[in-house]
Amino acid sequence: MGVLLPLSDLRIMHHKLQDHDLDAIRQLSRSINNIDAEILPEKLSVTAAANQEIQILVASCNKLMTRRANDLRRARQFAADVTHELRTPLTILRGETELALRSGRNVEQLREVLESNLEEISRMTYLIEDLLLLSKSDLGEIPLKAEPLPLNDLIEELHHQAQLLATDKNIEVKLLCPQQQILLHADNLRLRQVFLNLLTNAIKYTSEDGTVVIELTPHADTVAIAISDTGIGMEEKHLRMIFDRFYRVNKTNNRYDGGTGLGLAIVKWIVHAHQGTINVTSTLGQGSTFSVILPRIVD
Ligand code: ADP
Repeated sequence: MGVLLPLSDLRIMHHKLQDHDLDAIRQLSRSINNIDAEILPEKLSVTAAANQEIQILVASCNKLMTRRANDLRRARQFAADVTHELRTPLTILRGETELALRSGRNVEQLREVLESNLEEISRMTYLIEDLLLLSKSDLGEIPLKAEPLPLNDLIEELHHQAQLLATDKNIEVKLLCPQQQILLHADNLRLRQVFLNLLTNAIKYTSEDGTVVIELTPHADTVAIAISDTGIGMEEKHLRMIFDRFYRVNKTNNRYDGGTGLGLAIVKWIVHAHQGTINVTSTLGQGSTFSVILPRIVD
């Protein structure tokens, strides 16, 4: 049963709005109605005489607009990047084809043009597949097919694949894995994509005779998977951005090594979808370490 307070103890706070407060609310509402979704104003403001609650409301509106302006800037940058990324291979395709048609080339030379064109077409295909994957993930349209997954088996398999990829550059790929089997509740194909991507990068950004190490460390209810390399490394200032779509430290190189700049964005999305985290540490000229932490099934 509730306790009844004597009437005299009840204090009713009635806060009456002053005329200048009402004016401020009208002014705020007019400004909000006039906002153009494409051109956000720098800041909304109301008269300094408006009461504190109204000032708080204006500050919240301004924070919301700053977030929205950042989203808009990112979306525009993304659209510009996609256009650029697709236009470059198309320009190359067009230029090479026109030249081949104009000049009297022999069969061997024409074959070279076709091979080069095929490379550009493959690049565009990968790019579009990656973009489609990311946009579907944004819309929450890619459900994970999570099932019990023995992590050691997956990593051993990927270790073998990485060794094959690394033979051309004589890079040694080492695996440090505990005997004890580590079980995850995860999507096999997606996690495979994460580690293959990190391993491909580690090999791609490491020069001949280098070393790549894969290390699995179980903790109480998580597991850490670290992929380290003795490669080119990165300056501190890039580390925050490399998981952004299309961000590349050295933009000119990637046309030749087949990168799309979307790999790490996809990796980050998959790791987060598994309630995991990903971090990177790196030293320019010495190498990088990407560490993924995932929850594991503990019996
Ligand atoms: P890309 O297709 O260009 O490799 P990613 O999204 O996989 O795109 O990586 C983004 C950028 O991060 C790369 O262009 C590269 O500059 C940098 N990077 C990724 N992994 C490494 C690594 N192991 N060592 C050095 N730089 C790396």
